Amino acid sequence: MAEVASRGKFGPYGGQFVPETLMPALLELEAAYEDARADPRFEAELDDYNRHYGGRPTPLYFARRLTEACGGARIYLKREDLCHGGAHKFNNVMGQALLARRMGKPRMIAETGAGQHGVAAAMAGAVLGIPTEVYMGSVDVKRQALNVFRMRLLGTQVHAVDGGSQTLKDAINEALRDWVTNVTMTYYCIGSVVGPHPYPTIVRDFQSVIGREIKDQAREQMGRLPDLLVACVGGGSNSMGTFAPFLEDTAVELLGAEAGGEGIETGRHAATLVAGRPGVLHGARSYLLQDEDGQIADTFSVSAGLDYPGVGPQLAYLKDTKRASFTAVTDAQALEAFHTLATLEGILPALESAHAVFAAMQRAREMDRDQVVVATLSGRGDKDVQTVARSMGVEL
Ligand SMILES: *Cc1c(COP(=O)(O)O)cnc(C)c1O
Repeated sequence: MAEVASRGKFGPYGGQFVPETLMPALLELEAAYEDARADPRFEAELDDYNRHYGGRPTPLYFARRLTEACGGARIYLKREDLCHGGAHKFNNVMGQALLARRMGKPRMIAETGAGQHGVAAAMAGAVLGIPTEVYMGSVDVKRQALNVFRMRLLGTQVHAVDGGSQTLKDAINEALRDWVTNVTMTYYCIGSVVGPHPYPTIVRDFQSVIGREIKDQAREQMGRLPDLLVACVGGGSNSMGTFAPFLEDTAVELLGAEAGGEGIETGRHAATLVAGRPGVLHGARSYLLQDEDGQIADTFSVSAGLDYPGVGPQLAYLKDTKRASFTAVTDAQALEAFHTLATLEGILPALESAHAVFAAMQRAREMDRDQVVVATLSGRGDKDVQTVARSMGVEL
């Protein structure tokens, strides 16, 4: 692949900004991944887990009542909420855990913010019998007590990280530190299309099952490709997985929905591509949210999964080349879409996914009735019911 040949660069973005001590591990990982990709047995085993354990393929569902309510383009939902674990995270961890086993690594580590990637890594570690440890900021450990307990039930050890802002970016720093120290015995399973090369490529490829299925299902169900694909953007894995198989299909428009929080103008948001500028974080160059001195800014969003100051380097490149566009959806708009989808379609979406649903509804209204919008529903909203209740002033 072209970007592998150019050492993981997407235009000026990506790369490997890491300490020397990590380079052998990244080279080993890159070689092992290329070897796995060339081995049909690896693909077959992943496909088997995807089907019989993960519940793939997930449906492409025509949201009839949502479409009628918007009165424009037909809206379809890619139901990643029906994936094992309740989100698209499964696609990535299953692929990486199989890679860890193939590399003979007896131990897997992961970072987590809201806990969704940690829970998914814990599931994959359990089903493949790989002891797994998860780093999580101590603020998040308190905020996401239920997911911490889920990981423990799945046999995973959770380490609370006290440094920095005690959230996701500090958990990634700590996981990288562990990896440097224990590199021969350890596989680092990263949670999104971020980090040094080859991670953005590996995670994109494993998540691309979303877009490949959309393509097949659209051809089968509508006899053509969609006009517009919409996905929410945190680190960028469900959006890259949705977009990647369509990059050459230039008639298909690509739209990413970022977390607008309380509004871009308030500064309290996590809309990295809409409001950030280029810099280096976690081993790669990409857009970042930073203050005037280049310090990483604090981020805000009602959805913990979008609350990250960086974004995948390939998305930065798609923005600069205008192949994809990005919009900010506020907390209030995401909550509105959450209630709309609940009452019109009987689906409680993850608050992350509700950002994509809002952007899809907004665009569908301006489009013709014979056009098609596909929104990726990255996860289910059971985890967010308490947050939604609080926003309504309801005590659970
Ligand atoms: C983690 C998560 C996201 C954000 O991560 P991406 O890497 O941007 O996909 C979005 N939706 C759900 C349900 C998640 O769990």
